[in-house]
Amino acid sequence: MSDLLVLEGLAATYNHAIRALSDVSLTVRRGEIVALLGANGAGKSTTLKAVSNLLHAERGQLTRGRIVFDGRDATSLPSAKLVRLGLVPVLEGRHCFRALNVEENLVAGGIGGGLSRREIAAGLERVYTLFPRLKERRRSASGLTSGGEQQMSAIGRALMARPRLLVLDEPSMGLAPLVVETIFSTLKGLNREEGLSILVAEQNSTVALRYADRAAVLDAGSTVLAGDAADLRGRAEIKALYLGSP
Ligand code: ATP
Repeated sequence: MSDLLVLEGLAATYNHAIRALSDVSLTVRRGEIVALLGANGAGKSTTLKAVSNLLHAERGQLTRGRIVFDGRDATSLPSAKLVRLGLVPVLEGRHCFRALNVEENLVAGGIGGGLSRREIAAGLERVYTLFPRLKERRRSASGLTSGGEQQMSAIGRALMARPRLLVLDEPSMGLAPLVVETIFSTLKGLNREEGLSILVAEQNSTVALRYADRAAVLDAGSTVLAGDAADLRGRAEIKALYLGSP
């Protein structure tokens, strides 16, 4: 399997002062699901924002390191360009347009990805097949849908842009266990059937390690461990040391 995304020694700050990342390196190979684990504040969200070139929106910046996507240096490519190349983020907070309905939110993802009307219609069908719940709710204002439905919409909107690498920040956050399983098993299905590569940050390491092929663990802004998810799953001490839970 060849490398799709490579992060080499990333360091980042906020407001030119707060050091959020010191040394983050990891690789996502084509067709893989990689989990990015770590306790609160370890740097998971910052890493994903760096990958998607969205740090500047929070007065953050990369101060060192290199990001390679699909064989090209992507360190300073604008986020919209990254989306067109297939690197599509689903960041924390879900960021739906609350006043628009579910379908309009999905269509917005297709327009952002530069798709034609026909491609958008096909994309919608695909998302509704993956998440039938969204089809039922398609005329509802997004702001009035449940947390699970908003997370599905956010993922659906990203899928409309036809990603090759989906970058997800804490998709399980605040959701009931059953909804979390629905979301992760849908992602796993896309990974298996269409070869979609996924980088997913999670505090819920138990779920993430069950679905991921490999994982990297962050501690205080640096990668401290990386390996096969199956190996990490069996190592109870990792949770105690790095993930903020016994
Ligand atoms: P969480 O799960 O709590 O989001 P995380 O692993 O994603 O944790 P980050 O959110 O990346 O961690 O935070 C890394 C460090 O950067 C923390 O010390 C945090 O306080 C700081 N930080 C994050 N966002 C900002 C911001 N917008 N401005 C200033 N500091 C920030």
